[in-house]
Amino acid sequence: MFRLKRKFVINRLDSGGLITNYYCTSKCKHCLYACSPAWDRQYIDAETTEENILKIKSLGCRSIHIGGGEPFLNLDGLTTVVETVCALGVHIEYVETNSSWYKDKDSACEVLSSLKESGLSTLLVSISPFHNEHIPFYKVKGVMEACRTVDMNIFPWIMDFYADIDAFDDKDKHPMEEYTNRYGPKYLRRALKTFSTVLEMTPYQEILSSNQGGCVELRNVSHFHFDLFGNYIPGLCSGLSIHRDDLGHEVSPEKYPLLHTLFYGGITGLFDLVSDKHGFKSSERYLSKCHLCLDLRRHLVLDRGLEYSELQPLAFYENA
Ligand code: SF4
Ligand code: SF4
Repeated sequence: MFRLKRKFVINRLDSGGLITNYYCTSKCKHCLYACSPAWDRQYIDAETTEENILKIKSLGCRSIHIGGGEPFLNLDGLTTVVETVCALGVHIEYVETNSSWYKDKDSACEVLSSLKESGLSTLLVSISPFHNEHIPFYKVKGVMEACRTVDMNIFPWIMDFYADIDAFDDKDKHPMEEYTNRYGPKYLRRALKTFSTVLEMTPYQEILSSNQGGCVELRNVSHFHFDLFGNYIPGLCSGLSIHRDDLGHEVSPEKYPLLHTLFYGGITGLFDLVSDKHGFKSSERYLSKCHLCLDLRRHLVLDRGLEYSELQPLAFYENA
């Protein structure tokens, strides 16, 4: 008896978000998309927003969040996004912000009231020691206060760190070193563990031998993103992209050879391919198969200068 080969196709979407921009005021250590001030100041336009949302709707999803980068760095752009998404009948769960744009209470209330009128009801406010390395905490507290004043819902992400951060002078930024000095050497580890479950470095051979199957995560539709370039980014696989217009069809091995290899052959398949054909020399240890996957892809883009439509956006590799 033979088993049918599972198909690599994204023909349904459950839950995800829209990336409006990759540039950011911060460069947080844990940022999945390697956002930072080094990115070009490009922001999603109305047409791309509409095309992304129509695709999301056509695949059965009626509710999204909006994030970046820092979405508030282009207020007109953000207003257009909120209005476009609402006009297309898709619910916005929340917009994410790091609060760097806060100047004073009155102007923050004005910004939030205007977005509320456009259809936004909830703001996700980032609260973490990683953010506090780049943004004074009074800005975060100010944005939360402004939300309460204009009756905008707050989704604090995450409250666990609030008291630790608030113990420092809120007018200044505070590097992680100050946290470890105050809370002990294990503080960074605790903070990182909140955002990532794996912290141990493992020999690459062990990672390969314990991950023999294909990467079914590529078909996970419960945490997808669409970005300002029309890329669909599966799950937590940042730097891997399928063009929006190719969703709903089987992923082509000709157009997406690396994704195909990862889906059917997993990290071992990609490792063999990049080692044999492109001279990849691995480090001894990695945090996870995804850490190794990123190093393999970085080798193709940066060391070999190869162009793949599935390794997008290119600037991700330059900034990761
Ligand atoms: S504020 Fe958010 S988008 Fe910006 S670098 Fe930090 S985690 Fe990334
Ligand atoms: S190994 Fe690569 S493709 Fe597989 S889940 Fe991790 S990032 Fe995604």
